[in-house]
Amino acid sequence: VEDATERRGIRRAAISLAVPANSQSLRRHNLALVLQSIAHRGRPTRAQVAGFSGLTKATVSSLVDTLVGAGLVISGDPDRGLVGRPGSPLGLDPAGPAGLGVEINVDYFSVCIVDFTGAVRFERVVAGDNRQRSAESVLRSAARAAERALDEAAGSGLEIAGLAVAVPGLVDLDGVLRRAPNLPGWEDVEVGERLRDLIRQPMRTASCDNEANHAALAELWFGGEPPLRDFVHVSGEIGVGAGIVVGGELWRGASGLGGELGHVMVEPDGPMCSCGARGCLEQVAGQEALLRAAGAPARAATALGAPDGSTRELLERALAGDVRTLATLERAGAALGAALAALVNLVGVPAVVLGGLYAELAPWLTEPVMAELRTRVLSFAWSPVALSVSPLGGTAAVRGAAGTVVRAILEDPAAWFPEMLATS
Ligand SMILES: [Zn+2]
Repeated sequence: VEDATERRGIRRAAISLAVPANSQSLRRHNLALVLQSIAHRGRPTRAQVAGFSGLTKATVSSLVDTLVGAGLVISGDPDRGLVGRPGSPLGLDPAGPAGLGVEINVDYFSVCIVDFTGAVRFERVVAGDNRQRSAESVLRSAARAAERALDEAAGSGLEIAGLAVAVPGLVDLDGVLRRAPNLPGWEDVEVGERLRDLIRQPMRTASCDNEANHAALAELWFGGEPPLRDFVHVSGEIGVGAGIVVGGELWRGASGLGGELGHVMVEPDGPMCSCGARGCLEQVAGQEALLRAAGAPARAATALGAPDGSTRELLERALAGDVRTLATLERAGAALGAALAALVNLVGVPAVVLGGLYAELAPWLTEPVMAELRTRVLSFAWSPVALSVSPLGGTAAVRGAAGTVVRAILEDPAAWFPEMLATS
């Protein structure tokens, strides 16, 4: 029987068919299998892990001992009140390897540390306009903020396994930020590597990905209940970001540059877009377009970077029933719904999650978005699309970034701790 935590992300360890299995590769596979069984079930005993995994109790016990020895798993006190000999409940070790996430956005940067159980242990947002600064200068400030977070983590005994950075732009599979439409001067920057160089404490790994991808991963790992395995997470910040998750995996496209829902055409004769095309979704449902159409004077800003800024402005106008703002949101919702319907028709994802600005504006967007999905998704009668609002708020992307570090260890613990492969 599949339970909710399993649906959120249990994955069998990857099996390479390129080489025959030997005792080391079997052990590597089974370590990941046992660790994930513990991660995605509520405090199972060794006997229950044996049941989930199909391994013998003796094998599970030996692998659990190895995982406990590596500081990844803790074995609790046996639950009282059970008949017979109770087993000790197993869980991920909160003192195990933690992940550092950094998000660099248009008008803020943020730092987050999640521990091995996925709990947020540190979070800080530093507001400030990064459009006026060089990439190097922003990265230096972010590195100082990260160092303070690392000092604090070290104070509570946390060891950081690696760093992941979220950025608002096109990031290829090598982690190179190719272009950030709203951050001039950030072109072909290896953001993860550069930030690692600037942080004084050593980091074992460094990676970088688009903020929309990281926000979708946060939704997958830390989002609403019941957890979703197939969905598109769409967030309006300054641009329109979308992250597509299929079968519990982020869909990146062959180049890593896919998922650009904001540049799907929704109005053939619509306004020119910064990308050079006409009538992109971003020109109807992006934040600047919303502000312009609603007649609001504020400059586009994120809710984290400017809490009293444009998001608040749009919300207040909508709450006050301003006719122009309501018509703007109606049109934006319809355009967003049409673009999402095209995506659902092609990819078949059964759920849409609204994040960022769209989560805040959900009371006005839900109806027009649903109307378009109902009309345009061919399979809607048999497989209706569920629309929900992300519970994660503005820090989803940085939390997802920090989470990728911990997830990498859950997926292949022996890659991080090769000493676990030595059998005694
Ligand atoms: Zn465009």
